[in-house]
Amino acid sequence: MVRMLIGGELVEGSRTLDVFDPCTGTAFTQVPDADAADVERAVAAAKAAFPAWRDLMPGARGDVLRAMAGKVTENAEELCALLVQETGRPMGLAQFEILHLATGYLTYYAGLDVQPELIVEDDTRRVELHRKPLGVVGAIVPWNAPVFIAANKIAPALAAGNTIVVKTAPTTPLTTLRLGELWAEVVPPGVVNILSGGNDAGALLVAHEDVAKITFTGSTETGRKIMASAAPTLKRVTLELGGNDAAIVLPDANVAAIAPAIFAFAFFNSGQVCAVIKRLYVHDSLYDAMCDAIAGLASSAKLAPGSDAAAEFGPVQNKAQYEKVLHYLAEARKAGKILAGGEVAGGPGFFVPLTVVRDVAEGSAIVDEEPFGPILPIIRYSDVDDAVARANASPFALGGSVWGSDVAAATKVAARLESGSVWVNQHCALDPQVPFPANKQSGFGVEGGVEGLYPYLALQTINVAKPAA
Ligand code: NAD
Repeated sequence: MVRMLIGGELVEGSRTLDVFDPCTGTAFTQVPDADAADVERAVAAAKAAFPAWRDLMPGARGDVLRAMAGKVTENAEELCALLVQETGRPMGLAQFEILHLATGYLTYYAGLDVQPELIVEDDTRRVELHRKPLGVVGAIVPWNAPVFIAANKIAPALAAGNTIVVKTAPTTPLTTLRLGELWAEVVPPGVVNILSGGNDAGALLVAHEDVAKITFTGSTETGRKIMASAAPTLKRVTLELGGNDAAIVLPDANVAAIAPAIFAFAFFNSGQVCAVIKRLYVHDSLYDAMCDAIAGLASSAKLAPGSDAAAEFGPVQNKAQYEKVLHYLAEARKAGKILAGGEVAGGPGFFVPLTVVRDVAEGSAIVDEEPFGPILPIIRYSDVDDAVARANASPFALGGSVWGSDVAAATKVAARLESGSVWVNQHCALDPQVPFPANKQSGFGVEGGVEGLYPYLALQTINVAKPAA
């Protein structure tokens, strides 16, 4: 059994959790299910490791992060195969997550550190602003991009001089646990601890007095609970939550040119991404053409287990999410006209065909909520100001995009969106150097870029009086 990493040791724990294959719906292996004692040991190990890690030169911490990235690339074949198995996604997607995103963020943060800033210096005083690590960080990870999201928390937390306890998602623990086994060879004991377990293990981390900060990615609903249970210890929190990204296609857009990219950014990972296109607003003049183009692409997409080399799209990752998506499929059939997909074929596994719905509008659940599955509502608009207002009329504000042939005009429209990231003629373009902010109820506390280090650091001013002349 793949084991947890606690204080440099590989630990089986006292309980187990089944791991299910989303392509068959059956359990294929087990992992440890962290109990309160495991959480306690992991936090204690991270606390004990903190002073020495904090006091390392930033370059030495960077070397460890680079060694961690090295372990990922050296073992990529095994890791990608595990990720395909536990998520059901196609191999190309697993490679993108592991080799491009996870190693990209580990390597980027390996090269960053924050120096003190001189704020004021005059005859009477010298004031510097310092940023100091917080201590033990608890990282709580969702199932949709388990390795990337873990790496995107570990890298800045460690670069900033903190130690970390990661709690993997209950349905996708395998690849991250295996990484922990590999990282045990290159990370000082206690600096990185990896637990697999249920929601209760996450809740214990949030409540723990020795955890200085929680970085959480997951649903808005869980984000609210985490914020509430962090209150008694006044713990800092970073919340990367749900999204309901709008894309607006302007009247001057070239449908044939942009439809493949819009399709790809709507159905990436079968729609199980926080910042993919979840509401597509298309101008009246292009509406029919765009609906037909996207529906054509969706109808010809190859849906199959990720282990099938021809697979372009995989299943929904777990049973609970599958049932949620089935509910949204039923809503889609009621709310609009289905152009592609719309019905599951039955049979084993959590497969849902790519579904395109036209003639839908706000007021239906598939537009107002986040299905987090392969369903794209296409919404008609006739006035750009109205489209912007409708795109912004959501409690979510994670990403958004605007598509048009006049790039300057499209950029002006994009700047009017309220989401943390706006893209022009693209969507969900992630880059380690670029902050990925979340606004409104999509969360707060930024990840990515230099700004992504700051939530892992406490500010301190050092104000030194100068002797009178
Ligand atoms: P989830 O909220 O159900 O679970 C996420 C993690 O929180 C899991 O590890 C779970 O065990 C843990 N957890 C659950 N209850 C907890 C509690 N009370 N205390 C502490 N931990 C608890 O989310 P999910 O279904 O795994 O992920 C899908 C959601 O994540 C979607 O809404 C998606 O938009 C969002 N997401 C957001 C981003 C982003 O960057 N904003 C990225 C990816 C996914």
